[in-house]
Amino acid sequence: MIERRQFYINGTWVDPVQGRDYAVIDPSTEEPCAIISLGGQADTDAAVAAAKAALPGWMATPVEQRIAALERVLAAYREREEDLAQAMSMAMGAPIDMSRRDQVGAGSWHLKNFITAAKAFRWEHPLGDHAPNDRIIHEAVGVCALITPWNWPMNQITLKVGAALVAGNTMVLKPSEESPIDAIVFAEIMHAAGLPAGVFNLVNGDGVGVGSQLSSHTDVDMVSFTGSTRAGRLISIAAADTLKRVHLELGGKGANLIFADADEKAVKRGVLHMMENTGQSCNAPSRMLVEASVYDRVVEEAAGIAQKLEVGPASKAGRHIGPVVNASQWEKIQGLIQKGIDEGARLVAGGPGLPEGFNKGFFVRPTVFADVTPDMTIAREEIFGPVLSIMKFETEDEAVRIANDTPYGLTNYVQSQDGARRNRLARVLRSGMVQMNGQGRGAGSPFGGMKMSGNGREGGSWGIHDFVEVKAVTGWAL
Ligand code: NAD
Repeated sequence: MIERRQFYINGTWVDPVQGRDYAVIDPSTEEPCAIISLGGQADTDAAVAAAKAALPGWMATPVEQRIAALERVLAAYREREEDLAQAMSMAMGAPIDMSRRDQVGAGSWHLKNFITAAKAFRWEHPLGDHAPNDRIIHEAVGVCALITPWNWPMNQITLKVGAALVAGNTMVLKPSEESPIDAIVFAEIMHAAGLPAGVFNLVNGDGVGVGSQLSSHTDVDMVSFTGSTRAGRLISIAAADTLKRVHLELGGKGANLIFADADEKAVKRGVLHMMENTGQSCNAPSRMLVEASVYDRVVEEAAGIAQKLEVGPASKAGRHIGPVVNASQWEKIQGLIQKGIDEGARLVAGGPGLPEGFNKGFFVRPTVFADVTPDMTIAREEIFGPVLSIMKFETEDEAVRIANDTPYGLTNYVQSQDGARRNRLARVLRSGMVQMNGQGRGAGSPFGGMKMSGNGREGGSWGIHDFVEVKAVTGWAL
């Protein structure tokens, strides 16, 4: 059993002042796999004080040196890839091969992209030719609280830490209590990179404890949060008294519009994308909207793909999907599957209960519903499990109406060979991202949502922008 109760504060590992033991459960076995400590107000205060004390020095550090520090972080990250992969796989259930490739790979990708973006970023420049001694300076926001979820742990941590660090902020990371060990390894990476004490701090804790203490803290200038819309709302309320900047990356209910002229791999791609990470991705294409003329064929194909999908423990090598993260997520997903049946959707793959051959572990059967209508609960709520809802549309206008009829607005997807239609749809779909014909987003592309999916953008130069203040100066000596 791993026991890691200490926090990383002011450049060193310290015992909690107000710690409470918390057992991390391996979702593949339902057995405890690690003990951590959940901190209290005194621990939060100590970490914030360290970050505050380190701020003037780090802000004044030339950007070239901050970029060099980020390069050292990336090098140290690469040294610990296997430890990160194992820690994530054990605690949140990503199958080990997927954890090594995608979960760990996402982190190094973001760090690398921030290095590139920071080198090209215009940190200081004249307002314009019309006002040459008006100076625009981008400087750090200050002490940042970084609150992250368990579903893509390194993806989220690096998106926040990389941008905050290179922009000259100091920070306190509070990772999810469901996947804390990878974050502890990450703190060791930050230590190995040789940052000045207090620039990066880590306190473990839960949402009501360290999470809300950070959100309401007078000495925290910004909260960058990724997680549920529910917690995003609570954080915004907690942050309101101190009027700190609140950056939110929240849930989603992505539509995947499949037109009759979609390429032959579009359906398979859509189902596998939905099931990736056992459906626990904020940008999952969870509503498949299908043009009526190809609807029956698509439903049959999607069901066949889901039925063939293998489910297995996170420690096993291979391309299967793992368990969902914990008992409460498992219960919630089971409840929503049952609700889909009760509200009249047609179950064409999977269904309630454990997959065949399992008697423990938080495993879910890859599930596909057809004939889902926009008013059904499974069409409206983020399920965060391997459950796909297929809906029919007759016209492009109707498809847009259904796609946009959600409080969320993170990623929508379009599958069509008609370029004019794709471009038209890219403009009218209300989401921070629109991905078409399976093309992934390029290096440095901004990730983030509209409406109840949040207000921030992460990654590349947009990610840096979210962690800087823009200062306008006049009378700048040339
Ligand atoms: P969660 O909101 O329960 O927890 C996320 C983090 O917030 C954890 O560290 C948790 O301890 C903390 N937290 C919880 N309540 C809090 C509070 N009141 N104050 C301060 N902190 C609090 O979410 P989760 O279950 O860990 O993650 C799943 C959710 O994250 C899904 O809704 C998913 O869509 C979303 N997500 C969004 C993105 C994105 O970029 N938009 C990316 C990944 C995940």
